[in-house]
Amino acid sequence: MKKIIIIGGGIAGLACAYRIQEEIENGADIQCEVLEASGHFGGKIHTERFDGFLVERGPDSFISQKPWAIQLCKKIGLADRLTGTNPDQTKTYVYTGKRMVTMPDGLSLMIPTKFMPFALSPLFSWAGKIRMGMDLFLPGKGDDKDESLASFIRRRLGEEALRKMAEPMLAGIYASDPETMSIKSTFPMFFQAEQKYRSLILGALARKRQASTQPAVPKGPSPFTLFMTLKNGLGEMTERLLEKCPNISFRPNTGVNGISKNGSGWKVELKGEDPLSADIVISAVPAGISAKLLRTAAPKTSGLLEKIKYVSTATVSIAYKKEGFAHPLNGFGFVVPRNEGRQLLACTWTSSKFPSRVPEGHVMLRCFVGGATREELAEQAPEEIEAMIKSELREVMGITQEPVFCKVFHNRKSNVQYRVGHADLIAEIESSLSETPGLYLTGSAYHGIGIPDCVHDGTLVAEKALQALAPPV
Ligand SMILES: Cc1cc2nc3c(=O)[nH]c(=O)nc-3n(C[C@H](O)[C@H](O)[C@H](O)COP(=O)(O)OP(=O)(O)OC[C@H]3O[C@@H](n4cnc5c(N)ncnc54)[C@H](O)[C@@H]3O)c2cc1C
Repeated sequence: MKKIIIIGGGIAGLACAYRIQEEIENGADIQCEVLEASGHFGGKIHTERFDGFLVERGPDSFISQKPWAIQLCKKIGLADRLTGTNPDQTKTYVYTGKRMVTMPDGLSLMIPTKFMPFALSPLFSWAGKIRMGMDLFLPGKGDDKDESLASFIRRRLGEEALRKMAEPMLAGIYASDPETMSIKSTFPMFFQAEQKYRSLILGALARKRQASTQPAVPKGPSPFTLFMTLKNGLGEMTERLLEKCPNISFRPNTGVNGISKNGSGWKVELKGEDPLSADIVISAVPAGISAKLLRTAAPKTSGLLEKIKYVSTATVSIAYKKEGFAHPLNGFGFVVPRNEGRQLLACTWTSSKFPSRVPEGHVMLRCFVGGATREELAEQAPEEIEAMIKSELREVMGITQEPVFCKVFHNRKSNVQYRVGHADLIAEIESSLSETPGLYLTGSAYHGIGIPDCVHDGTLVAEKALQALAPPV
């Protein structure tokens, strides 16, 4: 019997395990163990449920345009548990000049595709609007080299679009500095739109035209919204994955210290336990940790992995009694451009976006701090972060009420940074792995940070490993 060890029980490791479980059910003679350092399976996905509240410590939803998370949910019997965002409260605001201004209608991933809402929007100055419109006439870049998000947006749409939209909305998703983050690896659709259509606006209009000529999808009772989640939180997905893998051994509180070569296979050193041996090892931990584990077994890969950096963020879930609450919470929430000089990066109005996550008579918000440009704020003590958030919410939203609870979650060095040249670095890492057959890497560090990307990557890596084990025909 062949043995596979997966190190790390985050969503990538669990998706990988599920694909191996499928193969075991199809008759493959494989033993598989998932070793997880903490007591919790799910990694960054961590749902807390108490007193009728549902609080997500990390991610709260995933994008539906990438199909892999939805496909996995369907496979594990969660199709009817998928749920979208509130269709009645879809506005997103930008806090600018000490007030909330709505993002104009007709923005397709930040690119204007409707003239009137954009022209009438108070979010941009006339000079800023004209500069964005110049995208229609400006020449393309002329090469296909990677560049930073800031340089790309500045070149195509101008400085104001960068500061008021791209930086808080796009760089915010990655908790990154737009001056260093790779456009090619984070928003490849923009990069490709310029390559193909020269102009981002023309590219967005072409995409809209294509979508309108596709056969209409019959509307079911719950059509997918841009972001989807599960009724009982994202934890429902990771909990169900464990249930659906009865032939996999999941070992919590089993931290791995190192990996070394062992004949034609591998030896996995554990913290305080006897080492394990395996034919295949799949490392599904953050890149920096994989770098440490592989230092002796695969020094070249390890050195390259060290180049992938992570930054710290913190999320703060804060709930209030609805009675007397100062704000209508009429939307999904707001983002704050850096030049507003505030400490808050963004705030989701959770009880408007996902109304079933709070009990009757309450509202809940989720605030974000830290990231590449203000990391030190996320590294403060929980009491300091709580005080900072209360003060920010008082000044920005006029909230003076005492909360029912305020929970601060630190994500220390948790947000991976895809910097300019990321795709080349990953290609180099993958090529270096050819020197260590039987060793694989998966997770958010490589081909996409979102949950659908991690599910896809974990599944693909499991398939590669299974192929390597399959007897030659
Ligand atoms: C605050 C925050 C909000 C986010 N929001 C969203 C969102 O809304 N939507 C979205 O799609 N994505 C979101 N993301 C991104 C997404 O959640 C992550 O990219 C994804 O969950 C990472 O999964 P992973 O399996 O690669 O790694 P992880 O979840 O980090 O899992 C790695 C696992 O390895 C374990 N481990 C570490 N070291 C060892 C060791 N030595 N031995 C054994 N085990 C070890 C860890 O304990 C962990 O469980 C968010 C991320 C963060 C931090």
